[in-house]
Amino acid sequence: MGWEPLKDAVRGLTELTARCCSEPEVIKGARPILFKLIENSSWLESAYKEPHPEFYQQYLLYADPSNRFSVVSFVWGPGQSTPIHDHTVWGLVGVLEGAEKCQRYERNSMGMVEPVGSEEMYFPGDIDCVSPSVGDIHTVANALPDKPSISIHIYGANIGKTSRHVFKPDLAEPINFISGYNPLSAPVLDLS
Ligand code: FE
Repeated sequence: MGWEPLKDAVRGLTELTARCCSEPEVIKGARPILFKLIENSSWLESAYKEPHPEFYQQYLLYADPSNRFSVVSFVWGPGQSTPIHDHTVWGLVGVLEGAEKCQRYERNSMGMVEPVGSEEMYFPGDIDCVSPSVGDIHTVANALPDKPSISIHIYGANIGKTSRHVFKPDLAEPINFISGYNPLSAPVLDLS
């Protein structure tokens, strides 16, 4: 199988983001592309599934040269979770292996983050969506106590280079951050 499923997704997203300009259109078009990509996890080489003992990992799989989208493998070891954070661009999160817990937040009139709704569980094949227009602040945690969980994320920019925010429950001011990636290079894809 090799990287064919990823290459198909990248070709589809390149065509989609070149053709569509509105966020709802792009999200609507990207969802079936991600759904197909997470149908099966065998295309993802084991190096990009490797958890780190202390920190969840973000492996860049592809960055569009025109910065219209990126595809990233997120790997959570047992017990690992993100801080409360935003994205500032649209994002689709599709679970590939394991299970993930997500909690959404909103900022109140004081600027403090408050949970919205209850924690939701996501399993392989499930897709969640974030963006400044549909709700952009959340946490994601591995729901499994003894195994890694992996999800494939598609964002409307090179997310590892995007300036965004972490929120602390007791602070009104967000903290700026740029996440970066695990140093493992993205796979070289022949898209011709
Ligand atoms: Fe997120």
